[in-house]
Amino acid sequence: MSLLQLSESLDSLKNYMETLGLNPPETDLTVCFLGGELSTLNYDYLCKAKYLVEASMKAFSSIVLGMQTNLIMSTGKLDLIYELFDGNIGTSIDNFSDARRFKGSANLYRETFHKNLNHISETKGKSLGACYVVSGESITYAEKEISLAKKNGYPIKLIVARQNYKGESSFQFDTDIDALTDMYIKTLNDWFMQSQVAIDPLLYMLNRKLSQLGDRTQGCFESCNFTNKCHTQGVSIEPNGDFYFCQELADLKVLKLGNLISGDLDNLPITTAKLREENIAVTCSACEHFVSCKGGCMAYSVDLGRGFSNKDPYCSLYYRIFSRIDDLIREHGLNEVLKWRNAL
Ligand code: SF4
Ligand code: SF4
Repeated sequence: MSLLQLSESLDSLKNYMETLGLNPPETDLTVCFLGGELSTLNYDYLCKAKYLVEASMKAFSSIVLGMQTNLIMSTGKLDLIYELFDGNIGTSIDNFSDARRFKGSANLYRETFHKNLNHISETKGKSLGACYVVSGESITYAEKEISLAKKNGYPIKLIVARQNYKGESSFQFDTDIDALTDMYIKTLNDWFMQSQVAIDPLLYMLNRKLSQLGDRTQGCFESCNFTNKCHTQGVSIEPNGDFYFCQELADLKVLKLGNLISGDLDNLPITTAKLREENIAVTCSACEHFVSCKGGCMAYSVDLGRGFSNKDPYCSLYYRIFSRIDDLIREHGLNEVLKWRNAL
C-alpha cells in the first residue's frame, strides 16, 4: 500500500468508526504493524507510515504502536525499528523444528534470530514477547519452547493454527484436540503459582476469572479470542485496502467489511457479528464460564465449517482450562493468586 493509499485508508477508517458510534477521546487504541516480513520494507516508508497513523488517530485517548517481526534483519536495522516503535516489538519463535528458514537454512534462521534476540536483551535490557503457533507438527516442541521461555524470562503466547491454514503448518481438530488439551492442562499445572513468566492465553484466561472475582487491576476487559462482540474489537487492514474485524477473519477471507482505499463499506458483517453475539448468549447461557469465555472465537467456528453463529469448536478445551483455573484459585486462595499474578 502506498503512503497516499494509507492516508486515504485512514480517512475511510475514521468514517467506519463513526458509523459504529466509537468515541475516540474515550477509547485507547493499539496498532500493530504485521504480516509478511515488515523489516524488509524501506525504513523511511515505515517511519512515514507510523507517523501517518499517529497523526490520523490523534483524537484517541491513547495510542500504542508496535510491530510483529521474525527478527531476520541486520542489528543496525533492528535498533532503528526498536526505537521507532518504542520497544513495542513482538516476534514469533521456532527453536526446534526446521519449518522456518533463512536463505534456505533452518540453522541460519535460528542463528540470526537468536543473535538479534540477545542483542535486544544486552543493549536494551528487554526480553521480547514471543508467539508460538501450535500445529499438529509443532505441538511436539511446545513443552520445550515453554521451558525455554521460562528459563530465559520472556513472555510466550500460544496460538493454535487454523485447520485451513495454507502455510507450513495446520492443526487438525479431530486428531489433535486431545493432545492439545493435555498440553494446555499440563502447562497450566506447571505454571500456576510457580513461574515468573507470563504464558498466554492462560494468563489472559486467569485475568478474566479474577475480574469476575472482583479484581479491577486489569479492568473489565473483553477481547479476542474470547468475545461475542467481534464487531467492537478492531479491524485488520490488508495491503490492498480490504478490511475485516481481525486478522483471523482476514486470513480466512470471510466477513469482509469493504475496502478502505476505495471507501466501499458493507454492513452485512456487522449484522452477522451482532447475530452471533445474541445467539452465543443463548447457546452458552447454561455454562458457568460464559462470563469469561463468551463462546470463544467466531473465526475458529468458521474455520471448522460450523458457521458464524456457533460457539467455538474448542469449547471442551476452554471448559477444562477455566474449570482448572477455578480449582487452582480455590486451592491457593484469591489473595495469594493475586500477589503472584501481579508479580508476573
Ligand atoms: S466453555 Fe464452551 S459452553 Fe462455555 S462459554 Fe465457552 S464455548 Fe460456551
Ligand atoms: S473472530 Fe475471533 S479473533 Fe476475530 S474478532 Fe472475533 S473473537 Fe476476535
